[in-house]
Amino acid sequence: METKERKASAEKPDPTVPQPLLGRIAIVTGGSRGIGAAIAREMAASGATVIVNYVRGADAAKGVVAQIEAQGGKAQAEAGDVADYDSVCAMFDRIKKDHGRLDILINNAGILRDRTFKKMTMSDWHDVINTNLTSVMHTCHCAVPMLLDNGWGRIINISSFVGQMGNFGQANYSAAKAGILGFTKTLAIELARYNVTVNAICPGFVETEMWASVPSNIQEKILDRIPMHRVAKAEEIARGVRFLAVEGDYMTGQSLNINGGVYMGW
Ligand code: NDP
Repeated sequence: METKERKASAEKPDPTVPQPLLGRIAIVTGGSRGIGAAIAREMAASGATVIVNYVRGADAAKGVVAQIEAQGGKAQAEAGDVADYDSVCAMFDRIKKDHGRLDILINNAGILRDRTFKKMTMSDWHDVINTNLTSVMHTCHCAVPMLLDNGWGRIINISSFVGQMGNFGQANYSAAKAGILGFTKTLAIELARYNVTVNAICPGFVETEMWASVPSNIQEKILDRIPMHRVAKAEEIARGVRFLAVEGDYMTGQSLNINGGVYMGW
């Protein structure tokens, strides 16, 4: 049965439903579309003011902001290339100037450069490692001092089941996503004493532009390998993020698998 609270994220906020993230400032990297856009909407529905980060999709990011505002939420779009440390520092400086604080960092931005290892170029490797993994170091390096100032913080890193099991044609991507899991555990150990939790989410396949770029014959083969025989909706991943942000007080260093059973864990 759909709870009252759950319903609130899909419709206009019901003033009688508590917004547990009211007063919190959250940033979602790559919030302009796909999973990131769903996370931004979910965080806003829970009361947070959401910074919707993008690198190229200014119009898409502004569209997400408009959707959030139409639902009575608060959001703003912020350009910043997560693969570029100077760009990330400038973006976090603007957030500090505008809001004076940051409470929740959601590292979602990511790209694919799929190729079998024999064909993979160094640029395929560096592009994916920089955008999907080094980016997480960049944002955390800028955000952690702000989270420590609050004495409360949530860092949620979007990894992938591919970081746990590997995948044909994704040596670069699986290395980046596995790297995120190691980084998450270590940062969790170091920041636990400051009431800052650090967790990862490992989605299975999700219905986004990234999934749409997979050829249909390959999509069919993939569906055959998923026990639930469907891909996730972006909103199903966003609900996991909400859970970690709102309910996950005593969870840190963990990976939440939302994957339809495609990979049953370590
Ligand atoms: P999309 O390709 O739909 O969206 C990617 C987002 O990342 C866009 O908002 C894009 O912004 C942003 N982005 C890319 N490069 C940068 C950059 N250098 N700086 C800032 N933002 C950037 O991806 P998904 O929604 O499918 O995936 C989101 C995350 O979930 C990724 O980390 C992905 O690896 C992970 N994931 C996805 C799965 C899937 O099946 N879709 C499965 C498992 C994990 P812009 O529009 O401005 O380019």
